Amino acid sequence: MIDTHCHLYLDDFNDDRPAIIERANAEGVGRFYLPAIDSNIIDSMLQMEKDYPEQCFAMMGLHPCSVKENYEEELQIAEGWLARRKFVAIGETGLDFYWDKTYTLQQYDAFKRQISWAKKYKVPVVIHSRQSTQECIDTIKEMHDADLNGIFHCFGGSMEEAQQIIDLGFYLGIGGVITYKNSGLAAVIEKLPLSNIVLETDAPYLTPVPFRGKRNESAYLKYVVQKIATVKNISVEEVAEITTLNAQQLFKV
Ligand SMILES: [Zn+2]
Ligand SMILES: [Zn+2]
Repeated sequence: MIDTHCHLYLDDFNDDRPAIIERANAEGVGRFYLPAIDSNIIDSMLQMEKDYPEQCFAMMGLHPCSVKENYEEELQIAEGWLARRKFVAIGETGLDFYWDKTYTLQQYDAFKRQISWAKKYKVPVVIHSRQSTQECIDTIKEMHDADLNGIFHCFGGSMEEAQQIIDLGFYLGIGGVITYKNSGLAAVIEKLPLSNIVLETDAPYLTPVPFRGKRNESAYLKYVVQKIATVKNISVEEVAEITTLNAQQLFKV
């Protein structure tokens, strides 16, 4: 299986990073896609990729919650890296209207510029859409072309929003939230084809039940797979197989 979205390079894992990878491998998780946040994490993210060259793959981008007064500088740093070497995706980028709406205009500007990088480098774009799913969909529609694809990571929207994302050829990143009773996500996933779903943990965040509230790690992907299998009344093997193929197709591995 592939954890398409995990921040395993963060300090939360400094004491036991090798054990985290080992436990994930033991649960059948063999690849880890590392989304960037801002310039503060680039060194540790690239170090992790260097330490696990067969298993860890870095993205490059600016998280919407890191879009502040200095976002032009931040975008320049990310752009410099993209010109220098290959990254597997642009991200994470997008819009976040949950924490702070002060920089809404700047968030849109940063998001659109990063979508244009995805087009330029022909890589997927990984989208963070907290309380902004429809706004992110509209932005993608506005800039869509035949080559543009990507993931709405930690998808938490409605059936209608999911359908629009699928119609765009994008994928839904599904993680621990599907195990939360009040999320409503299980009911949406029940009705959707597996063909547009990829797995993610967003570790160390969004830990699935039964460890909700604790630090998340990639080995816990198994609880997400189990929940999807139960909801769709199919085997865990089938969920693992199809979602892995989806991720492979998207990341061209
Ligand atoms: Zn995110
Ligand atoms: Zn993330």
